[in-house]
Amino acid sequence: PDDSLVDVIEASATTYANHVALEFFGATTSYRELGAAIDRAAEGLRRLGVSAGDRVAIVLPNCPQHIIAFYAVLRLGAIVVEHNPLYTPRELLHQFEDHGASIAIVWDKLAATIADFPSAMGVETVVAVDVTRAMPFGMRAKLRMPVAAARTGRAKLTLGHPAPGAVVWASLLKSGPIAAEHPRPQADDVALLQYTSGTTGTPKGAVLSHRNLLVNSLQGQAWLPGPKPGAEVFYGVLPMFHAFGLTLCITSAMSMGARLVLFPAFDPELVLKAARHNPPTFLPAVPPIYDRMLTAADAAGVSLASIRFAISGAMALPPALVERWEAGTESLLVEGYGMTESSPIIAVNPVAANRRAGTVGLPLPNIEIRVVDPERPGVQRGFDEAGELLVRGPQVFSGYWNRPSESAEALLGADVVADSVDPLDTADAAGSGPWLRTGDIVTVSADGFISIVDRAKELIVTGGFNVSPTEVEGALLAHPDVLDIAVVGAPDADGSEVVTAAVVLAPGVELDPDALRTFAKTCLTPYKVPRRFVQVDELPRSLIGKVLRRQVQQQIIGK
Ligand code: ATP
Ligand code: MG
Repeated sequence: PDDSLVDVIEASATTYANHVALEFFGATTSYRELGAAIDRAAEGLRRLGVSAGDRVAIVLPNCPQHIIAFYAVLRLGAIVVEHNPLYTPRELLHQFEDHGASIAIVWDKLAATIADFPSAMGVETVVAVDVTRAMPFGMRAKLRMPVAAARTGRAKLTLGHPAPGAVVWASLLKSGPIAAEHPRPQADDVALLQYTSGTTGTPKGAVLSHRNLLVNSLQGQAWLPGPKPGAEVFYGVLPMFHAFGLTLCITSAMSMGARLVLFPAFDPELVLKAARHNPPTFLPAVPPIYDRMLTAADAAGVSLASIRFAISGAMALPPALVERWEAGTESLLVEGYGMTESSPIIAVNPVAANRRAGTVGLPLPNIEIRVVDPERPGVQRGFDEAGELLVRGPQVFSGYWNRPSESAEALLGADVVADSVDPLDTADAAGSGPWLRTGDIVTVSADGFISIVDRAKELIVTGGFNVSPTEVEGALLAHPDVLDIAVVGAPDADGSEVVTAAVVLAPGVELDPDALRTFAKTCLTPYKVPRRFVQVDELPRSLIGKVLRRQVQQQIIGK
């Protein structure tokens, strides 16, 4: 399609005019009202000086204003830059330095902090959004703000009073609508700078176009059996500042005319409360969220049978959780896989009886894949042979913001993989763009199911062998004393790495490395068995719940 995301939301505002678009703690906004609010916010932002190609930072939790701001920025042909609103001022400062946006739309708790960034960084205008007023008290407490003053040394924060000089969001909406003839974005214009999660290094800003994002939402819709336009109820518990939540909850839900119930943070009680009035049909989430939902629903005696699409991503989905979910809810829980650089969805299991637990399913329509030697991407691997996954298709990004060498590493020209065989025969539809190196080691079965082995960067090299941390973790998790585990390589004197396990033990249990090693040897070859075990209280995780092995590695080096 040659539409932009703006064309899509405008079509929804007409087609689904009287349907509820957004629900936030009981307050609803119809698609007509949403379309009108976007037009007014666009005009308000235009008057503040935003024009085509400008970067506009959004620092908001999930809330109606987040969606309005997103599309208003796009309407002007400008570029949205999403941020985690729970980042500390220092982390935000790094990102603002990187993208250099001159205007920021932020929740009021952070307005003073951002207004106080050094003037050389060029943030000229801060728009403060009052998001907490509409929230119940418990939710406000959950969204505790970072301590601004302590970090920057200068910012002074008064709750409920945006920084002096900040523009109040509500005043933007007092403008008239943007003129119909104001230039509109085109499909290949940049829509979004989306930062990666920072699991393996500093987050990188992936440059994504309207086409990238729109195509990915359509690929997802084409894949799912029988989505009902105008009748789905999406539960937005994933953060919309992350690629997964953004594509599911903003672009997909809004193009389908769905009712999107927004949660600024995940709280199973609040989700169940909402589910009593408007049972969800779509619940995209991550494994820890499904786990907690299930426990809470069981305890409260609430049925989750209304959910037709429970799509898990971002990290491995334990098959045991799938079994529990499917037994407890009568709905299917399927795993998918993606990355920010791919808008983000690459593969999803069939939402049908032939789903395969432990795999991430099949590539979405119009996505071509290859599995290659990570050292020599021209050399192809066979079915069931581990190698790095390459993907190609209209949803693949064009590079990282301000990072030419990393962009060149991530994108391979068609010539590099020219002679390889298309294992699943998907080439025609995927086009002839560059190949994205996913950095993930996978296997692909002869019938096309993809299994994630590990990230290439996290493989441990010991005595000439590659050890998969995921495999070792899986083996040891079967031991009753081990509650949680992360396996990493600790640098060795000879330049090799020592397989080392950081373990969280069950309450009251003492660390017994010999017993754990003996247990591990029953299912792992000796070179894979951790030489060292270090006991930790908990594992560091990213906001979306991924174990940060890089941090684990730093923590255990000194121990
Ligand atoms: P960074 O690139 O900054 O190090 P990140 O790769 O975690 O961070 P994202 O783009 O949010 O940032 O995550 C994409 C990665 O998440 C994939 O490359 C893959 O390693 C992992 N991932 C996604 N889905 C799954 C899944 N179902 N199972 C295992 N890993 C997954
Ligand atoms: Mg990544």
